[in-house]
Amino acid sequence: LGLEVADLPAMMAANRRLEADIQDATLETGRLLDRLETAERSARTDPLTGLLNRRGLMEALKRAQAAALERGTPLAVGLVDIDQFKRVNDQWGHAIGDEVLRCVGGHLQAHARKLAGDAALAGRYGGEEFLVLLPGLPLQQAAAGLDACRANLARQVLRRADDGASLGRISFSAGVSQLRPDDCGDSLIDRADAALYAAKRTGRDRVLPE
Ligand code: GH3
Ligand code: MG
Ligand code: MG
Repeated sequence: LGLEVADLPAMMAANRRLEADIQDATLETGRLLDRLETAERSARTDPLTGLLNRRGLMEALKRAQAAALERGTPLAVGLVDIDQFKRVNDQWGHAIGDEVLRCVGGHLQAHARKLAGDAALAGRYGGEEFLVLLPGLPLQQAAAGLDACRANLARQVLRRADDGASLGRISFSAGVSQLRPDDCGDSLIDRADAALYAAKRTGRDRVLPE
């Protein structure tokens, strides 16, 4: 081999250093993967409500669409927009407006789960708009379920924490659509949006199917 026996201790020392370096690198890789996961989660999360943000919703919707088409099960989506939300901000301030957004988001998420199980979810589509995914539910059932959720919220009396002042009635309008085999891109959400627009136009505080 052409190696001097005298080189052996030096080689062994070099080997130990190499092993230590590899161990350090493995640790560092683990830390980087953790940070990557945290960064990816926060890129999909709305910081105000803790729900999925628009990006996270679109990824979840894509997965739900693929699963529904593969299994031949229905998938409904609801586009929800809080009614006269600007007035809440104007009357009570932006911080209370934020609280209302959290409350409505949590309410939608809880009802979505109750309606369609663990695969159901609500996320913040933007501003005071939320998207609800209801896998397994056909159109009319989804619309009726979301309407019950709307009525339940509107019945609740939301109060300001510091003095118990009632914020008044909080309602939303929503449009619901059901996945079709030929849906592509945003067509499913576009139909829910059109139904939401009709719900707003015909008086708000209601849920309309496409
Ligand atoms: P409509 O019934 O037609 O939906 O009326 P609206 O007042 O809800 O709708 P509009 O689009 O006029 O106003 C939406 C308001 O939502 C305006 C904006 O300031 C408020 N908003 C959007 N994002 C946030 C947020 O993160 N926090 C708070 N507090 N307000 C927000
Ligand atoms: Mg809006
Ligand atoms: Mg609104």
